[in-house]
Amino acid sequence: QTKLQDIDPAQLVLNTTPNPKPLKKPEDLVFGRNFTDHMLTIEWDQATGWQRPHITPYQNLSLDPASCVFHYAFECFEGLKAYKDKEGRVRLFRPDKNMERFNKSAARIALPTFDSAALIDLIARFAKLESRFIPEERGYSLYLRPTMIGTQKTLGVGPPGSALLFVIASPVGPYYPTGFKAVSLEATDYAVRAWPGGVGDKKLGANYAPCIVPQREAMSRGFQQNLWLFGEDEYVTEVGTMNFFAAVRNKQTGRKELLTAPLDGTILEGVTRDSVLSLARERLAPEGWDIIERKFTMRELDEAAAEGRLIEAFGAGTAAIVSPVRAISWRGKLVNCGLKDHEESGEIATKMKNWIEARQYGDDAHEWSYVC
Ligand code: PMP
Repeated sequence: QTKLQDIDPAQLVLNTTPNPKPLKKPEDLVFGRNFTDHMLTIEWDQATGWQRPHITPYQNLSLDPASCVFHYAFECFEGLKAYKDKEGRVRLFRPDKNMERFNKSAARIALPTFDSAALIDLIARFAKLESRFIPEERGYSLYLRPTMIGTQKTLGVGPPGSALLFVIASPVGPYYPTGFKAVSLEATDYAVRAWPGGVGDKKLGANYAPCIVPQREAMSRGFQQNLWLFGEDEYVTEVGTMNFFAAVRNKQTGRKELLTAPLDGTILEGVTRDSVLSLARERLAPEGWDIIERKFTMRELDEAAAEGRLIEAFGAGTAAIVSPVRAISWRGKLVNCGLKDHEESGEIATKMKNWIEARQYGDDAHEWSYVC
């Protein structure tokens, strides 16, 4: 058996658009609504492997209605951003982490894997080509959406014999244009996002659609997002589509702790989560903080809040970097997460946003930033 071809950036076919789109005013950008001039596509089939990569004008896909993606959810995706630095260079943030996760997601649903470095190279070229869509201003970036789908034409349930990997890009503004806005959460106990042995730690499209009805429910009661609990003990897992962090003072020792749920298979391996943990170990630990990945329950949070030991809480993810949490509705009461009425963010969340942003925009030169 001959070895299947991997993705080969040297084979790229570049076909640029004759009709470049007009640029939107940065302040008019709505998350995920506007797309750039081009897209990157790479087809795969089981006989030969990955085909030549193409960059083409942004366009519709043409797919057979029997394509397995439509029937059995053979789809996984990623989300990362490209930033423009002071010198006008385009930078990706930790793309190796996204590619590692993309490969794990693909493998879990019998889609093909690929050489991460090769796809990073292609995404970098694509992002650079779309450079004019990335506003210079702080807080703006180009959201990149690598996606892989099974394209095999069959209603038989089995491993896809063909697949399509594509990458589209959407210029985005700051998540909080006028500064942080703390959110309120509804602790969700009647629906479960992920479970042991499941696929909640993979970025599969199938994990997202079922979360919308609970989110709409929470919204209808005045809460922006769900705080996903798990099990009878009501372990705190994630918030909406972000990882969750709580800063608490330990009941016994009085030491300050930054807590987040461990990667036990029910938690998405967030790149921002990893960045927060790494920066916390580097910069908060020397100030006396303990940085802890462990399971903790909603009851623990509530107790900490009642005893004045809950310092702050925040979500962490690519879209907002960090999202401060004001309060959590749980069992009919409102658990206050440590912010004073006039505050929209705690100290740790603010520091994290600044530290991470400095690396994303290349102000703090660091290996996490990949110059295209
Ligand atoms: N949890 C879930 C369920 C998510 O969809 C995301 C967004 N990818 C995250 C956490 C945050 O991950 P990241 O920091 O890589 O954006």
